[in-house]
Order: sequence, then structure tokens, then C-alpha cells
Amino acid sequence: MTTRSLFLLMSVMAFVACSDSPSGHSPDQDLGLLWVKHAAEYEALSRQAYHQAERALPGFVANKRWTALPGQTNVENLPPAIIIDVDETVVSGADFQLTIERPITQVKLNDWNSTGKALGVAGFARFASTARSAGVELFFVTNRPCESIDGNDDPCPYKTTVLNDIREAGFETDMDHIMLANEKPSWTKEKSYRREVIAHTHRIIMLIGDDLSDFIPCMRAVPAVPCDVAATAESRKDKVTRYAGYWGNGWYILPNPMHGSWTSVR
Ligand SMILES: [Mg+2]
Repeated sequence: MTTRSLFLLMSVMAFVACSDSPSGHSPDQDLGLLWVKHAAEYEALSRQAYHQAERALPGFVANKRWTALPGQTNVENLPPAIIIDVDETVVSGADFQLTIERPITQVKLNDWNSTGKALGVAGFARFASTARSAGVELFFVTNRPCESIDGNDDPCPYKTTVLNDIREAGFETDMDHIMLANEKPSWTKEKSYRREVIAHTHRIIMLIGDDLSDFIPCMRAVPAVPCDVAATAESRKDKVTRYAGYWGNGWYILPNPMHGSWTSVR
């Protein structure tokens, strides 16, 4: 073993040791969190995704037969729409991820988001307003849950927080364009059903998100209806290849090395 490789091995061992804190997580050692928080490359990649989407917008609006949703048919007479995720797509949770003690919960995320101004992802606000000017509706499909919180009379308090987060990120929308997990009985954490609901009335010209689940059905380790098979690292990579023609061409993915369905598959 060379001196250099010995040094690298010791560095990795030190990193693993530091990561093994009592809480199971050391934000100051998490390269994914640190990259989103500090690397200028993160903003560059986000802007790149939204610029690509913006440049493609006029062509997709004009082409009445184009759809970015595999399997969608008879779209010629439907108005155009974009399906877009919220967390790490519209708003960045880097500060939350760096600050909050594990385990992360929806209540902690909601408390964080309802007490401070959301940090918009670079490029989103301009893109969203350009899309609206082009006559395209944006539907925000998020897996923040529609469920009650102790002491709050609102049966779906997370939805108000999501609405405010999107506004704080620079885009005005309404409750009819936000779809949470479990908001209706069939709206499971599997987003494909909610995409199909929107596809009944709109031509889906783009999908935008940070997780494969924002684009492709059944990409989660814990399958939810209508999926019944757990995704694996291999099945996810296979699907990315299978749909290769959509990336940067109707599908626009934002970088997120902090969390997501990729962390729980085997
Ligand atoms: Mg997300």
C-alpha cells in the first residue's frame, strides 16, 4: 500500500468514525448537506435545470401532441400543465437539514417552515412566472402529508405551510394547485396516481423534481398503492436508462444529495 492510499484509507476511516455520532448523524460531516449549503455548484446546477426547462417551454406549449407523461394519450385539446415537486425543487431545506436533530419528522419540518421564510431554489421563481405567462398551469405535487397536528383545528395544516412556502419562493398559487399525500384516500405517497388525476384534464408538458419518484412510478423502497414491489438501487438505475430520452427533454431534475428515496433502497 502506497503512502497516498494509506492516507486516503485513514481519512475514510476517520470520516466514518466521525459520522457515527450518538444521534447517528453528524451534519458537520455530511458532505451532501455541506455541498447544498456551501457549494456554488449547487446553485449552478439548479439554474441549469430551470434554464433548460425555460428554453424548452415554447416548443412544448406549441406542440399540442407533446406530453412528458409516459402513457398519456389524446392530449391535443387539453390545456398545458407542469407537475412540480416542492421540497428541494421549489424550496431548499438545507438549513433545516443542517440544524434539526434527528430523526427528521414532518412536524419538525412544518414547524421550521411555518416560523421562517422559505429559501427558494435558484431559478424557480423566474421559470414559474415565465410558464404562467405562456398559459401553463403549475401543479405542486408534494409528499408533505395532509394530516392533523395536535392543538391545531385545521384538518390539513401542512397545506397552508406549503402554500406559504411557494409564495415565499416567489410564486403566487392557490390551494387547488397543491396536492399533498393522503389529501384524498387514493393519494398515497406514490405520486403517480396524483399525476394521473392531473392528466385527466391537462396535457403534462413537463415534470420537475429532485427524486425519481417525481418522474417514474414505483421508485420507493416502501411501495405504496398502486405499487406493490419495492424498488432497488438496480431497478431505479434501469428505469433512468429506460427513460433516457426524457432527461433534460420534458423532465428536469434538481440536485439533492441530502435525502430522498435513493437513501432507503437496497
Ligand atoms: Mg422533493
